[in-house]
Amino acid sequence: MRIEEFDALVVGAGLSGLRVGLGLSEGGWNVAVISKVYPVRSHSGAAQGGINAALKNTEAGKDDTPKRHAYDTVYGSDYIADQDAAMLLCEEAPKVVIELESMGTPFSRLESGLIAQRPFGGAGFPRTCYAGDRTGHALLHTLYEQGTRRGVKFFDEYFVIDLITVGESVAGLIALDLNSGELVIFRSELETVILATGGYGRVYDKSTNALINTGDGLGIAFRAGVPMQDCEFVQFHPTTLYGTNILITEGARGEGGFLFNTEGERFMKKYASKAMELAPRDIVARAIDTEKLEGRAFENEYVHLDLTHLGAERIKERLPGIREISMFFAGIDPIDEPIPVQPGQHYSMGGIASKYGGDFGETPLPGLYAIGEASCISVHGANRLGGNSLLETVVFGRYVSKQLLKKGIQRTLSTKDVKKAEELTLQKTEQLLDQWEKNDGKKPIEIKDAMGTTMNTLVGVFRTEEGLTKALNTIRHLQKDFLNVHVSTTDRKFNYGLQHTLELRNMLDIAEVTTYGALWRRESRGGHYRVDFPRRSDEEFLCHSLVYRSADGGLKLETKPVKLGIFEVKERVY
Ligand SMILES: Cc1cc2nc3c(=O)[nH]c(=O)nc-3n(C[C@H](O)[C@H](O)[C@H](O)COP(=O)(O)OP(=O)(O)OC[C@H]3O[C@@H](n4cnc5c(N)ncnc54)[C@H](O)[C@@H]3O)c2cc1C
Repeated sequence: MRIEEFDALVVGAGLSGLRVGLGLSEGGWNVAVISKVYPVRSHSGAAQGGINAALKNTEAGKDDTPKRHAYDTVYGSDYIADQDAAMLLCEEAPKVVIELESMGTPFSRLESGLIAQRPFGGAGFPRTCYAGDRTGHALLHTLYEQGTRRGVKFFDEYFVIDLITVGESVAGLIALDLNSGELVIFRSELETVILATGGYGRVYDKSTNALINTGDGLGIAFRAGVPMQDCEFVQFHPTTLYGTNILITEGARGEGGFLFNTEGERFMKKYASKAMELAPRDIVARAIDTEKLEGRAFENEYVHLDLTHLGAERIKERLPGIREISMFFAGIDPIDEPIPVQPGQHYSMGGIASKYGGDFGETPLPGLYAIGEASCISVHGANRLGGNSLLETVVFGRYVSKQLLKKGIQRTLSTKDVKKAEELTLQKTEQLLDQWEKNDGKKPIEIKDAMGTTMNTLVGVFRTEEGLTKALNTIRHLQKDFLNVHVSTTDRKFNYGLQHTLELRNMLDIAEVTTYGALWRRESRGGHYRVDFPRRSDEEFLCHSLVYRSADGGLKLETKPVKLGIFEVKERVY
């Protein structure tokens, strides 16, 4: 049995994992950052539009403040964000953006040399800092370089399968070395594991997310008894390229793009007369789908995002990636023609629950932390504003590393108990993988496709009791099919079938949790829209949902209060 020993283990090498790893390493900890792909292939690298901070760099943004930023965030969240967390996010924002700049991120600049800022949906001021339309790429490379420089130990192409716990504490984890096919135990000397595994967009078949966004961290925590928080809140991005659902950044509308239906009408005026195309994503996504349902979509599928009036020079300078994507994947040059767009899954607001009354990033399981899109520290509530997610990864990655270093953590578990738990986990995992090889049921892809379509059609932009009940039944049938899933080769070296099966195991749990939460939440709020309950109900539902696996194998739901008290709860109109 191969054992790797470190002070702390970080799962995920996206922005959140890299930032926490860097912070701990700078503080003298021996840290492993484990990733199922090479770090710079993490989904963070796909982020286009930018990262928010009230920097006051532009004339239009000179009156902006972190508190205004926090207000927009909480208002945009439809009041489900925890207000103390949103305040911390926005107060730290200017600091982290300047820090990233001094680490080497090549931000786009104003004539004056200051970092440029563009307007984004739901924001009162232009506060989105960007590096062209490849912001995530620039940030990810910066943090990877810094991590390498500071001695973080990277384990690339290792798939983390499960946590190893002793009693109520985390001792480490088990991973599959994808290259050799060997199972490896990672032990944390300081009983600290940080999950930074990103979102679970691929539970849906129409998604802007990378194929690796399969919610592994959520599945791992869920199996260890940690509840999932607010998973019913899924963000559908209004503008994904028709045909492939590749993201067409909100920056395209931020730069002045218009949306048109088949009647040549800028239809957003009917849905958000003031904010128009720059209303928050949930509102624009519902507007597009309403146009479609009422027969004003092209080919009954998409609307037009028109950039032609921006002119060639601006498109080439500010949106080069968007132009490339449109030309390459749709054969359309946005300088001359509008881009065909439709809504698609984009972001997971919910995730691994944060501990009530605990510090930001702490989960209810001692020693287990969650940050980034995998977590639900709850800064986004029911709807995330564009540019706030990149911010969240870096703010909380940095914050958690600082808090851990301050804590002076001592080891509490006995080596004997840890070894026993490791052996048991290894045995159980071997059995599971063996079983999949012996089974004669469906292929993972068949189950995955059925799950993806079900989620898209029944747990999408518009939801109903009937549709959600049907979806839950289908997912539970698919879970039964999964018990007999078949992995087609016994060689574990770079066995994608095996990796996809491990991912599907996590996705099925999260699909079930998402649907269950959506069925329970009989109201409409942010990204969650119930056709049968179109109003927001603060009397009943101004709370977080926590979903657990119950002893009988079903699910159970508890609620958790939302932290209020800074901004008054009011109606959300744009
Ligand atoms: C196309 C696109 C554009 C976006 N644009 C913006 C934007 O402009 N502004 C903004 O604020 N937000 C944007 N977002 C959202 C934002 O990019 C993400 O929420 C954020 O980058 C997530 O970072 P993360 O560190 O949480 O996870 P990720 O970057 O997704 O990284 C997850 C990491 O976990 C690892 N991992 C996962 N499972 C396992 C496992 N089982 N074993 C080992 N490793 C594992 C992966 O290898 C990866 O390294 C965008 C998202 C998408 C999809």
